[in-house]
Amino acid sequence: MSDVAQTAARAPSRFTGKTVIVTGAASGIGLATARHFGSEGARVVLADLDLDRAGQAAEAVKTDGAPDAWPVRCDVSDEGQVRACVAGTLGRFGGLDVIVNNAGLMTFKPILELEAEDWRRVLGVDLLGAFFFVREGFEHMRPGGSIVNVSSIHAVETSPLVAPYAAAKAALVSLTRSAALEGKARGLRVNAVLPGAIETPMLRENPNVKSGVEVIDPNFVGQPADLAAAIAFLASDDARFVQGAALVVDGGRLDRL
Ligand code: NAP
Repeated sequence: MSDVAQTAARAPSRFTGKTVIVTGAASGIGLATARHFGSEGARVVLADLDLDRAGQAAEAVKTDGAPDAWPVRCDVSDEGQVRACVAGTLGRFGGLDVIVNNAGLMTFKPILELEAEDWRRVLGVDLLGAFFFVREGFEHMRPGGSIVNVSSIHAVETSPLVAPYAAAKAALVSLTRSAALEGKARGLRVNAVLPGAIETPMLRENPNVKSGVEVIDPNFVGQPADLAAAIAFLASDDARFVQGAALVVDGGRLDRL
């Protein structure tokens, strides 16, 4: 049995009748999260850059038990595409209950070599992408809805060469706090997860990890399903009194000297 199926087999179906958008859902944490929601009965919208890969992911989500899974091509850094994704979701499913802002990217350059365009690219996806979806969510989500932003432990501690990423992820925690304050009046909850090292393409293709600049003890590498379970908890009514939280999900890595 896969990690996703094992975790879901233990969990009740908390998302039956609900509609969930997961961004960056074709790979890694986003894929595991989409599959987790599907296995708990949600209709899942899989928003990603590559429609073919999102389509393959949607098939897996249906196999896991989702009543419907809809792949959408959406660059989260493009306001118009985010608006279209939410409008399409409302048109197809008649409502929206959960948004998981998971799409993200990193750059690896020393500060001396960074150009404004490097900052715009990272902030555009990792911060503004989440903001665009939060704003759409505030306009269209039903009371009781929930938004989960996928930040990083780089919001708290970091390594060299990733200044725009670390800044974007720290700002995403701040956006989560602001959105939680304003969301409360709308009956919406907004929380963040801060993953540590998670076994995904992003981790293994990380030049700092490859070069040894960032050394990761294998005991502190989690699976995408570990994040999916934490995200599903925050999105669920089990977390109904959790608002503006920044939940570290790193297997205890940050606490170690
Ligand atoms: P991943 O395997 O690379 O998946 C990220 C997905 O997001 C990919 O499918 C990617 O598409 C997509 N994406 C990138 N830019 C996008 C855009 N503009 N619009 C829509 N989709 C876009 O990465 P992951 O490790 O699962 O990371 C998911 C999230 O967790 C990210 O926010 C990351 O910062 C965060 N995180 C990961 C770790 C870790 O150790 N893995 C640790 C801390 C935080 P393409 O592949 O086509 O680019």
